[in-house]
Amino acid sequence: MLVLGIEGTAWNLSASVVDENDVIVQVSDQYVPSSGGIHPREAAQHHSSKISGVLKKVFNSVDPESIDGVAFSIGPGMGPCLRVVATAGRAISLALDVPLVGVNHCVAHIEAGMWKTDAVDPVILYASGGNSQVISRRGNYYRVFGETLDIGIGNALDKLGREMGLSHPGGPKIEKLAREGKRYHSLPYSVKGMDFSFSGLVTSAKTLLQKGIKREDLCFSFQETAFSMLVEVTERAMAYLDKDEVLLVGGVGANSRLRQMLSVMCSDRSARFHCPPDHLMGDNGAMIAHTGMKMLTHGLKTDIESSKVKPDYRVDEVEIPW
Ligand code: AMP
Ligand code: MG
Repeated sequence: MLVLGIEGTAWNLSASVVDENDVIVQVSDQYVPSSGGIHPREAAQHHSSKISGVLKKVFNSVDPESIDGVAFSIGPGMGPCLRVVATAGRAISLALDVPLVGVNHCVAHIEAGMWKTDAVDPVILYASGGNSQVISRRGNYYRVFGETLDIGIGNALDKLGREMGLSHPGGPKIEKLAREGKRYHSLPYSVKGMDFSFSGLVTSAKTLLQKGIKREDLCFSFQETAFSMLVEVTERAMAYLDKDEVLLVGGVGANSRLRQMLSVMCSDRSARFHCPPDHLMGDNGAMIAHTGMKMLTHGLKTDIESSKVKPDYRVDEVEIPW
């Protein structure tokens, strides 16, 4: 079975064809803001101007007639971006006369991790630009056990990056600077019950920056504080739920310091730490295609009439039949 997946909830327009075992092709085109953060309308314009080129490249590798289904990210994400992707998905599904399926973007991050690691029943840390959640499966739903009360960790890193004059996305550049940091400057550690928040941390970091502390030390301090918050809540979820595995997903999961902190925590608890390969970590079309294939094989498809995008779609709204 071959399924085409189209992702474009925010910065990365990505289309991929997968079969049951692997990614056959994945073509992506990233929107880079000219200044500031991601602007939804500009990102949508980027996606609509690039989508036919991206799909053409995919169909150079895979004969469109061999596609058995079309999956698209239906939400959560930026409304204008989601609408471009949904329009493309509907058009291809009609043209090829194959079923359409709207995929929850967060479920897709998790399923990509479950597909390409040995994880069985993990606590999931979903750390990305717009989302940060600690999730685990209970029955037929992914349940959220802790989450950000304001902005996502990636968004917080990108905001700090902008304050420092770094181009978008700031996350990877902050990681690099942090490696040279030595001195820890205190920043607000904000875990409230099982939830966490990052906007106060960004504000305090800005103040330190204005005071002229070394940028490397600021990045180091920011990462240590923010990642400790994520690791604490992940560990507490493991203790409450009696689970002995962690799966890290989402673009911030590329960060080697976050991976290191999680793997130390896991080895202290004799737990296993899993992380999917890089091409499935940040937003990508393959995770949508793979999850779409699972949905289609379980009889779940989306009629054109009910394919309206869901910008606020939550991971815990989706019934998981597998
Ligand atoms: P996603 O929304 O899942 O595609 O993730 C995008 C986010 O991941 C952006 O906020 C990036 O700054 C962030 N990101 C990507 N690579 C890294 C990294 N190495 N360290 C920290 N954040 C990163
Ligand atoms: Mg994402």
